[in-house]
Formats: sequence, C-alpha cells, structure tokens
Amino acid sequence: MKKKVIIVGAGVGGLATALRLLSNGYEVEIYEKEETIGGTVNFIQTEGFRFDLSASILMMPNSYKEIFSYVNKNYADYLEFIEIDPIYRLFSSDGTAIDFNTDMSSLTKTLEGISKEDSLGYFKFISDVYEKYLIANKYFLQKSQDTPKDSFNLKSIQEAFKVHTLSNAYEYISKYIKDEKLRNFLAFQCMYIGISPFNGPNIYTLIPVVSQLYGLWYIKGGMYSFINALSKLIYEFGGIIKTGVTVEEILFLKDKAIGVKTSQKTEKADLVVCNADFSYAMKNLVKDEYYKDKYNDKKLSEMKYSCSTFIIHLGLRKEYPKLAVHNIYLGKNFKENIESAFKGMLPNNPSLYIYCPSRIDKSMAKMKGDCLNIMLRVPNLFFKEVKWDKQTSKLLTNIILNELKNIKGLEDIEENIQYEDCFTPLDMESKFNTYGGTSFGLSPTLKQMNYFRPHFKSSKVNNLFFVGSSLHPGPGISLVLNSSTLVTEEILKMDIYE
Ligand SMILES: Cc1cc2nc3c(=O)[nH]c(=O)nc-3n(C[C@H](O)[C@H](O)[C@H](O)COP(=O)(O)OP(=O)(O)OC[C@H]3O[C@@H](n4cnc5c(N)ncnc54)[C@H](O)[C@@H]3O)c2cc1C
Repeated sequence: MKKKVIIVGAGVGGLATALRLLSNGYEVEIYEKEETIGGTVNFIQTEGFRFDLSASILMMPNSYKEIFSYVNKNYADYLEFIEIDPIYRLFSSDGTAIDFNTDMSSLTKTLEGISKEDSLGYFKFISDVYEKYLIANKYFLQKSQDTPKDSFNLKSIQEAFKVHTLSNAYEYISKYIKDEKLRNFLAFQCMYIGISPFNGPNIYTLIPVVSQLYGLWYIKGGMYSFINALSKLIYEFGGIIKTGVTVEEILFLKDKAIGVKTSQKTEKADLVVCNADFSYAMKNLVKDEYYKDKYNDKKLSEMKYSCSTFIIHLGLRKEYPKLAVHNIYLGKNFKENIESAFKGMLPNNPSLYIYCPSRIDKSMAKMKGDCLNIMLRVPNLFFKEVKWDKQTSKLLTNIILNELKNIKGLEDIEENIQYEDCFTPLDMESKFNTYGGTSFGLSPTLKQMNYFRPHFKSSKVNNLFFVGSSLHPGPGISLVLNSSTLVTEEILKMDIYE
C-alpha cells in the first residue's frame, strides 16, 4: 500500500517536495491556509495589471528545470524561459544610469567607463567568488548537512575554510572595487537573502556573481507561472492540494508523527512534511515540549532572523521605458540607510529594487502602461520601534515615490498611478505565518548555516520532516528547490532502512 504523506503549506518547498514524493510512489495531500498556493511566491491580479507579489529575480534556471526532469517531464511543455538583458539597470540619486549586460564586451565597456582599475577589480572579484561558488555548490549547497559526518569531515572543513573568509560582504567587495556606486551595486544584491552586507558573511557575494555569470531569467507570465506549472504536475501525478485549510497542530503518538489537526478535522498520515516557516511551526504547530527538542521558545527567541520587506505594487497609466526589468536605485548615505533595516529604523533615503516585468511581458499589463514592484528592506516585527499602521505605510510610500522622481524619465510617476497597494511585514506574518514577519526566515549567518541550521528530519521522531527557507541551504527559490531534493533523499533513505 502507498504511504500517505501530509505536507503542511504549499510554498515552493512544499509543492516541489510533494511532486518528488508523488513521482516516487507516495500518496500526497497538501494543506494550505491561503486560498492560493505558492506561499511568498504569489500574485495579485487587478485592474488589468498582474503583479508578482514578491519574488521576481530568477537566478540559476537549471534548479527550476531540474524538477521537471526529476519527474521525467520536459520543462518547455510547461514554461517559457526568457533571458534578461541587461541583467540590471543601476540608477543613482544623482540621476545617472548604468546598464550591466551579460555579454563580455558590453560589460567591459561599461566597467572601463567607470575606471580601468575597477574593471580589472570587477573581473578579479568575479573570478575569486566564482571559485567559492563552485566549492560551495559541490560541497554544501547540493548536500545534506544534517549529520556531523556530513559537515565535519576533513574535506568539508578544508573546503569551508576556502569559502568562508572572515571579512563581511562589503569589506570583501571593497578589496577589489574602488568606485562607490559599483561597490554599492554589488553589496545591495548580497542583501537579497535578508542579511546586511555590512555584517553578513561574504559568501553571499556569490549572488551578484552568479547573476553576472549565469544571467537572470524571466518566466513568461511572471514567477507565478512556475507555481502554476508545479500544481499542474502535482495534479497530473494524482496529488491533492487543499487550500483554505489551516493546520493547527502536528499530532504525535510515542515515537511517531501520526498526522495533523486542521481547522476542519484530524487527518492521519504515515509521514508529515512541514513547509510552514520552521520557527513558526516549532512555536505553534508542535505543541509538546518533548517533540520541539532544542527548539523551545527560549531557543527560538535567541536565534537570528532575516529582515522583512515593504513592497509597493504600482499599476501605471503609461509606460516608463527608462526602466529595465530589474532596476536598482542607490539612495544617498547608502550604508546608513541599508543598515536601518537591521537596527529597527526606517530609512530616510532608501535604496530600492524596482521590478518592471511589463518591459518584456505585455501580458502583465493589459493596458498601455507598466506594472512595478518596488521593494525596500525594512526591520522585521521583532523590532518594536516601527508601528506598521496605515500612517507608516503612507509615509514610506511617499518617501519611496520621492526617491523615484530622481530617476530621469520618472519625474511624473505619481500622476500616472492607476493602481497602488502595499505589502508590509504584518501582511507577511498574517498571510504566510512567517515568524516575526521576516521575508527569508532564519538568517543564514555563519552560526545558522549548514549543520547549525535546523535539520530536515526531526530529532525526536523519524517521520516528521521540514523543508523551506529556514532549512539548509537557505532562502531563495532555487535554494528552496535544493532543500526539496535533499529532504526527499532523507525520506527515501528512511524508507529503505525501515
Ligand atoms: C519580499 C520577498 C522577495 C523575494 N524575492 C525573491 C527573488 O526575487 N528570488 C528568489 O529566488 N527568492 C525570493 N524570495 C524568497 C523566496 O520567495 C522564498 O525563499 C521561498 O519562496 C520560500 O519558500 P518556502 O517553501 O520556504 O515557503 P513559504 O513561501 O514560506 O510558504 C509556506 C507556506 O505555508 C503556508 N502555511 C503556513 N502556516 C500554515 C498552516 N498552519 N497551515 C497551512 N498552511 C500554512 C503559508 O501560507 C505558505 O503558503 C523573496 C521573498 C520575499 C518575501
């Protein structure tokens, strides 16, 4: 008889794990509290505009394609990938704009336009970080770190020393690059996993490097097309997805997880996989102290969490061709303003990420206009200094709109807003149960990485598993897809030895 798996949460991690398990012959039911699946990868459809709710930067397309080959399907039957060029347009508050292309001759010309010294520094930086990336990918990102043997064997320790040098991301970048804008451009991208470039480990410099080397991609119809493709496959394989059903508790009996209690009834299973945010789940879904093991309330409160994000979605009456698909805007006093998100403050002159999918995909804005996501890293809800009410949202929106007007060609943006909404850390918490309203779960600091990150398998019962941003290897869609591979391997291993 097929083993029944219940998956709590239909985020990328839950959906991808469901699919892998279905293709290995398990019976899978997913319970999702929201009416739409996808978790933080979601969408808003209104007034002729379609917005990706949050995630928009598609790095490492092979991780997205891999799940199709895992289940013997051709990704091209489900998705259309489009390469983006330039990968970024960099705007500054002084009115300048620089394009970063993937082709070497355009890139070299751009960098030499800054200075020959920085051009050389940039290529040396790329080369050194690329080496780290290859090591990280081989020894850490694609491998489980659940047991001491996985993490603390001689080879892994040797390789870890090559990857983790002591300086923070900004200091590391500064060793290669003199130009402030170029430094800030690279440092800004290291923040994508919700950690400060002035504090976080320099391994996250691999984000701008991987983007530069492998390019950035777009899926026709926006990031949610990937979620639609996953759900289509899940149904094709006979999986069940129940939306609008909140899991209230993971149930245990002696040394087993036996199912879940939902808002509607009790459901039995042979295996439970929890994709709800790890810390939220330990606090709220695992009720008995014994099964929490070390992740009791005290431990959860001592752990380090990523920052959150304030997002504005704008539907515009006209097109703004000065914007590329991915844009970074550098505000004044970069360091002070970036650090505010990690010190419980709101920035006065924010640096921003601006996403304009309608630049290459007219299906995102049906009328003659553009749709934009503007994202700003802000403190998570553990900082009590910021009160996330309507007044704060209005204030922050005004600050952001004023900065946007520094971009040449966007001076009249405010007059052309047809649709506007914002998404705050409170929304993140209430919609998706992210602990503390964080955007990326547990911070991937050195002390919360690899073996020191929560493990895929519960230490108390051998049939409860976890998957998602707060697990190894960390946040971001491609890494969460890796975590779905690794957790599936753990589950299959358990079943072989049982
Ligand atoms: C603002 C923002 C921007 C981002 N930008 C990018 C980007 O550009 N590129 C990129 O690669 N990544 C990006 N990310 C990160 C990426 O979106 C996440 O790392 C990834 O989607 C997380 O997936 P997950 O599987 O951990 O689940 P989540 O998305 O956290 O989903 C968990 C699911 O569980 C459900 N759930 C929770 N509790 C319960 C319960 N009790 N019962 C039932 N269901 C429950 C939730 O509703 C949710 O659907 C971004 C994230 C944010 C927030």
